[in-house]
Amino acid sequence: GSLPSAEVVDDALSAAYARFRDDASGRVADYIPALAEADPSLFGLSVADVHGSVRQAGDASHPFSIQSISKAFVFALVDQALGRESVRRRVGVNNTGLPFNSILAIELNHGSPMNPMVNAGALATTSLVPGADAADRWDFVQQGLSRFAGRELKLDMRVYTSEAGSNQRNESIARLLDSYERLGWDPIQTTDVYTKQCSLSVTTRDLAIMGSTLAAGGVNPLTGDQVVDASVCRDTLAALATSGLYERSGDWLYEIGMPGKSGVSGGILTIAPGKGGLAAFSPGLDPAGNSIRGQRATHYLSGALGLNLFASA
Ligand code: GLN
Repeated sequence: GSLPSAEVVDDALSAAYARFRDDASGRVADYIPALAEADPSLFGLSVADVHGSVRQAGDASHPFSIQSISKAFVFALVDQALGRESVRRRVGVNNTGLPFNSILAIELNHGSPMNPMVNAGALATTSLVPGADAADRWDFVQQGLSRFAGRELKLDMRVYTSEAGSNQRNESIARLLDSYERLGWDPIQTTDVYTKQCSLSVTTRDLAIMGSTLAAGGVNPLTGDQVVDASVCRDTLAALATSGLYERSGDWLYEIGMPGKSGVSGGILTIAPGKGGLAAFSPGLDPAGNSIRGQRATHYLSGALGLNLFASA
């Protein structure tokens, strides 16, 4: 299978944009000071197929920090580098049923970070990134995510500085995991690389290309670069299906029927395996930290483009 024709995708994007353009529901994240300044009226949509064609609507060129969507791609890179069983044993692939920055989830599970898409599991994953020192490890992450995007992704220094200055909770999660011997590296340096990966600046266009690389067995459709193996894409999509929208992952799968990943700046990336990537951006969030308008627009697109993986026809 493949995505419908460019005309059909354009019509669906226009319809989704028109339907939700006045819907600025939700609350902008404010626990990271720089994110509190986001304009809730922003709304962008992009769809990229596995051949590199990108269609879009609204604020698709507006840059924002990737936040938790980075977790999917760092997981893929570490899965590639260390092997699936090693990462599964050390990080896990089951949903916590609890918020993304839960400390209780770690305690309830005897120190397990549970899955790579919550902060504990993402910190554990980032601690496994190969490299001799902090600079090497950051280079691995930045270069790897840039290969998924097909262009060099840059740090948003304002967001990075803001989160680094208010990072007590993530540092605490990393220290707690370290006390359970669940980290592969120093907890404070791990948290710093994690904070940087969350502060990479992207657009919905970048995210759609990154998603289409996962949809295409790891081959970036713009550059032809084999970023990770097809088996790593399969592992990553499975982890997203269980946990990509945190404690709302079941509702998401029930509504949209595809693996997805959200971030607190308002991005949501959805992958149609073998077909392409869909990215939405709008800063208003639900209580779990998922863009409300992004979920609604993706739901519309999943239906209009016939992408629900559980549909028989
Ligand atoms: N950088 C954010 C944090 O660690 C990412 C969280 C998110 O996007 N849900 O809190």
